[in-house]
Amino acid sequence: MANDDQIILPKISCTSTRCEEDLHCFRPKKGKLKIEDYQGGKCQACDADVVDWNKVYNRDLNDTDTLFAALRKEYIRHLFWTIKLDQKVSWRKFQKGREQMQKDIYKRLQSSISDSGRESIWDGRQTPMTPKNIIYCAQHATATCCRKCIRYWHNIPYDRDLTENELQYLTGLVMRYVDIRLFESPPAGTQLILSFS
Ligand SMILES: [Zn+2]
Ligand SMILES: [Zn+2]
Repeated sequence: MANDDQIILPKISCTSTRCEEDLHCFRPKKGKLKIEDYQGGKCQACDADVVDWNKVYNRDLNDTDTLFAALRKEYIRHLFWTIKLDQKVSWRKFQKGREQMQKDIYKRLQSSISDSGRESIWDGRQTPMTPKNIIYCAQHATATCCRKCIRYWHNIPYDRDLTENELQYLTGLVMRYVDIRLFESPPAGTQLILSFS
């Protein structure tokens, strides 16, 4: 059986692609646009035009299917939608329950991405790429990892702080990922162990 400690990510950056597998990168090419003007568009490597950006920019937490389907077409997001979560860590989070998770997510987003992208010299590097933290995984999967990704995936201005509404919306997206991956399909063995407590 595979050991959780051995989960390793392939060498990847935000602009990696596997276009032949329909996994692209929709961030505008470096130098083409100012970050403030980033918009979702075609794949920067192969020009595939496979995302309906008007629908993606709808910001409707009751209909995340369209957004999530589009996110999965970007290689880096796809990886975090399909990554095997660290079982020990997931189990502990599962025990904490949904309500606590939601609070943790809100706090994490507030501290990591609520400031204007201009204010943070760390922007783009504040969310580690690791399977050991489900919130980090969720942030990469939902493009709430940094203000550059938020700019082109969620059409939220880069050079000002997030509003409370925006923060609530992005928290909702991260929570939806956690629900799908953790609470709707708990890590193996979870139910069994809980029944003894
Ligand atoms: Zn491509
Ligand atoms: Zn990012």
